[in-house]
Amino acid sequence: MSKSSWKEECGVFGIWGHPEASRMAYLGIYALQHRGQESCGITTLHRGSHFFHKGLGRVADVFTEYELDALKGTAAIGHNRYSTEGGNHLPNAQPLFAEIPSGPISMAHNGNIVNAPELRNELIQEGSIFQGTNDSECILHLLAKQRSRDIVENLKVSLKRLVGAYSLTILTDNKLVGVRDPMGFRPLALGKLDKAYVLASETCAFDLIGAKYIRDIEPGEIVWIDDSGVHSDKALGSTKTAQCIFEYVYFSRPDSYVFGKSVYGVRKRLGQTLALEHPTEADIVVPVPDSGLPAALGYSQQSQIPFEYGIIRNHYVGRTFIEPKSSIRNFGVKVKLNPQSAVLKDKRVIVIDDSLVRGTTSKKIIGLIRQAGAKEVHLRIAAPPTVGPCYYGVDTPTRSELIASSNSIAQIEKFVEADSLRYLSIEGLKKAAEDTGGYCRACFDNEYPTPLFNKQKG
Ligand code: AMP
Repeated sequence: MSKSSWKEECGVFGIWGHPEASRMAYLGIYALQHRGQESCGITTLHRGSHFFHKGLGRVADVFTEYELDALKGTAAIGHNRYSTEGGNHLPNAQPLFAEIPSGPISMAHNGNIVNAPELRNELIQEGSIFQGTNDSECILHLLAKQRSRDIVENLKVSLKRLVGAYSLTILTDNKLVGVRDPMGFRPLALGKLDKAYVLASETCAFDLIGAKYIRDIEPGEIVWIDDSGVHSDKALGSTKTAQCIFEYVYFSRPDSYVFGKSVYGVRKRLGQTLALEHPTEADIVVPVPDSGLPAALGYSQQSQIPFEYGIIRNHYVGRTFIEPKSSIRNFGVKVKLNPQSAVLKDKRVIVIDDSLVRGTTSKKIIGLIRQAGAKEVHLRIAAPPTVGPCYYGVDTPTRSELIASSNSIAQIEKFVEADSLRYLSIEGLKKAAEDTGGYCRACFDNEYPTPLFNKQKG
């Protein structure tokens, strides 16, 4: 499920050579809305100048026809943001814009730069003037120090200073650029729409505008697109990749292809593998909607225990709602998720969720399922215990807030008041995601693929 107090990742988009570039970018970030809802923005390129509009809130709230009409040009980039670094203020909304020696530049960034505080201090000492508090701005200041007119050459030098995660879409006065960091933490895909080229965090953005998926931008690759087509440079290099496995577990939309694989396919396999690892006697398999759905289907098909829609999600819950004056128990969860007794009464229920982080939501859901009359509640998690915070662009709580970082499975089982609790193993996760190496699983195994500088949380 999604939590209003948490935020998802950022989404980035880019298009070159389309008569309705701003509208395509609007639809692109609309499809990527699940990756961030705090702020969004679009920048277009028209006759060498950049035009932008950005604001706090969701795509449908920030843009009207009026704004999109004012965003002239045949090239655009777009961004959805949630803040892993820096607060939710307008100066942090992206795309970021700057006038630098190579010309105007706008940039949209997904990921987290681990050594940003160190870089920022260094740059400030050298005279750089920062406007926001986000880590992405460092990239513009590094680029501003380069004297070449060639943005690709400047990127090759500047990006070498960064440690961490960055998938970027960049607009200059004559090209669209897409970059993935050498470890390829975050996804970025290339597509084609008639004569236009498109870049997006996830392929679900291509589907909405009718673009065809061509390929992923490779870890360490810089692609640039201009009127002569697509060009590529791999000079950033990539000796070790660390693609984020949590994109499969929770973040990406199931209808996307991420790192070349169907997210839906991986999620279903996570559920199938969970059923093989933890066979359980029960009457029904019930997903926690929406993120537990494909895994629950996989679990049900593998175990041959019937799948039932036992928890109904209200899709119209906004960010705030007026609570009654007298308190209603578990109101926050109940307003979103309603376990229905017509399905659950007198049943032995297997509940499937994609991940368990603090355990507080699960505890409430289990309570509500029991209230609805379930006889037994067995919680099955389609991922290993979340033991480590993410420093690469996923908003996880601090280590001390991660229930599995300091509690055994038996203790967590007791806390959430389940009849039993089982997790998928790391081996099971690797098998389901066809991970033969090259993925980051730090949130599940504490093995961080980069140095962390002063970033250790909690
Ligand atoms: P918890 O009560 O903290 O264990 O919440 C677990 C729920 O949060 C699961 O249903 C997940 O789908 C969801 N979840 C996991 N990671 C995130 C995240 N980074 N942002 C928002 N929701 C998440």
